[in-house]
Amino acid sequence: MRVYLDNGATTKVDEEAAKVVSECFSKNYGNASSLHEFGREAKEILENAREVIAAKINAEPSEIIFTSGGTESDNLAIQETAYPNRDKGNHIITTKIEHPAVLETCKFLEKDGFKVTYLDVDEDGLIELEQLKKAINEKTILVSVMHANNEIGTIQPIAEIGKICREKGIYFHTDAVQSFTKTPIDVKKQNIDLASFSGHKVHGPKGVGVLYIRKSIKIHSLMHGGHQESGKRAGTENVPGAAGFAKAVELSNENDINRMQELRDRLIDSLLEIPDTILNGSKEKRLCNNVNISFSFVEGESLLMKLDDKGIAVSTGSACSSQSLDPSHVLLAIGLKHEIAHGSIRFTLSKYTTQEEIDYVIESVKKAVEELREVSPLVKK
Ligand code: PLP
Repeated sequence: MRVYLDNGATTKVDEEAAKVVSECFSKNYGNASSLHEFGREAKEILENAREVIAAKINAEPSEIIFTSGGTESDNLAIQETAYPNRDKGNHIITTKIEHPAVLETCKFLEKDGFKVTYLDVDEDGLIELEQLKKAINEKTILVSVMHANNEIGTIQPIAEIGKICREKGIYFHTDAVQSFTKTPIDVKKQNIDLASFSGHKVHGPKGVGVLYIRKSIKIHSLMHGGHQESGKRAGTENVPGAAGFAKAVELSNENDINRMQELRDRLIDSLLEIPDTILNGSKEKRLCNNVNISFSFVEGESLLMKLDDKGIAVSTGSACSSQSLDPSHVLLAIGLKHEIAHGSIRFTLSKYTTQEEIDYVIESVKKAVEELREVSPLVKK
């Protein structure tokens, strides 16, 4: 059996979405900026895709900008609100558990004279609203707090964060790459000014993303070039990507969320039966597809490889940092000791995950942990 439980890293493209992409490649391949019929057809597909994604988050189509993915959306949101507002202030607030697309952008800005406050999180991975309020000063121009964490699945109170920012006249950006289609997003009700999304995390293609930009916010393109995407993102539009992304979003539904949540809880409950295990992240405020468990006396990489031998794909941290052997910054931020953080595994489900697969994973993990502990020098015998 082959079981893919690394959907936080990337997802299988939905067959219908793949079909739409393929049709764009072979039939509707015009440049959306061209004036002829081929161009007009491509433009129509692009604008339909924009409408679908806008509707999903209660935005207007003109507020949706297509990008190359979550990383570009985060960079565009942060850099293009920071630089143009420098005369108003140079202070940005974010959290210690953001994805590198946000953290590294903030570090880059620090080198250029900006001041960044990295908020702590509690043991569940949640920020404290009082701390956020205290961190705001007269120079604060932007708050960037992710909607749901990619490693531990904790969902932040973004509506409350948005309200605080709106009252103070500060821009609020949220990285919603992991939460999109898994927990509702309403940019109006949640007072969101900018939000990042990515196609490949929601059964759409890779290389396409979206930045929602509230219409009153004027931002410039990061890249110099043509005037595509209302001048906010230069470069020929990725029509196949946008169309596939929108199809995947259109297919997402509440039933899939509920099913994933049930399977998630089955996996959590069964894995916590193993002695010396802890669940990382909030139990209640948690993405429907995320399970992150620390197994004491076990090295995460060894467990990952053992599961890989059994055809099961999981991860030890976020995909981008899993090449490094440093413990995850997220797990350290929630207070785990290095050795416990090293024994942590992330299982991320998708709408395709079945109960049979979950039961096979439970059985395989129990066996693998037992075997690894038998040979572990850390276990007192
Ligand atoms: N933000 C979060 C929370 C993510 O999980 C990821 C991908 O892992 C990204 C941003 C980057 O998205 P992309 O791979 O589309 O650049």
